[in-house]
Amino acid sequence: MLCETLSVFPEVFEPYLGVSVLGRARRAGVFDFCAHDLRDWTHDRHRTVDDAPFGGGQGMLMKPEPIFEAVEDIAGSGPRPHVVFFSPCGRRFDQRLAERLSGMERLLLVCGRYEGMDERAYALADEVLSLGDYVLTGGELAALVVIDAVCRLLPGALGDEMSAVDESFSSAGLLEYAQYTRPASFRGMDVPEVLLSGDHARVDAWRRRSALERTALWRPDLIEGADLSDEERAFAREIAARGPSPRRADAEGEGACHGQA
Ligand code: SAH
Repeated sequence: MLCETLSVFPEVFEPYLGVSVLGRARRAGVFDFCAHDLRDWTHDRHRTVDDAPFGGGQGMLMKPEPIFEAVEDIAGSGPRPHVVFFSPCGRRFDQRLAERLSGMERLLLVCGRYEGMDERAYALADEVLSLGDYVLTGGELAALVVIDAVCRLLPGALGDEMSAVDESFSSAGLLEYAQYTRPASFRGMDVPEVLLSGDHARVDAWRRRSALERTALWRPDLIEGADLSDEERAFAREIAARGPSPRRADAEGEGACHGQA
């Protein structure tokens, strides 16, 4: 896959995309990355990308001309990119979208700044995404989040092909089960005995129940769409009925997640 960004701060991507899993994946050729500088498509001495909004009001808006020129120019060579814009008004980015985007041959992520973009620029977008209901100063972090979530799903990125399979939000639609490493006993908190048993069937059963329990406690909204047996659904309902707040359940010492008991 080829991932490209278009922004006025092309230098912010490299430090993050050069390290760890994504850095290794890039060096191994799992994906390629290129950060374009929007100012390369301006024609005045000051390389202007913004202007005041018609109708008055605070701040500056990104002008449409450099964005159109840049996107048309970039898209003009090679396979047609899937063009993503960012805005708090966009569709909420989630794991399912990450999975869909991971099937694209080429992604172009267009990052806003200032008060956002001239509305006409969105005509270039195949889709508009939001990270969530808050306002960032720019789209670069949103682009990094999308690149991270998408590229770690590419074949070969995680090394172990199974790593992405039973994570949170993956096929069963549940959160991930609780995990532990050494030491088996730490400050009075013991790792569940079954995980030390070496009995894979029991471990699998415990993990499934842990995933179910955590999802019902923390994210009951996910239970509806999860792939569950009737028995599991009844168990999830019972847990969810204990109260809407995971903290309340934790305070009662039940279903504790992340050691909050
Ligand atoms: N005035 C706009 C916000 C502009 S913020 C409004 O009220 O809707 C500047 C840029 O940051 C946006 O163009 C977008 O690229 C990025 N951005 C801000 N919040 C975001 C979010 N929640 N998700 C994704 N991108 C966001």
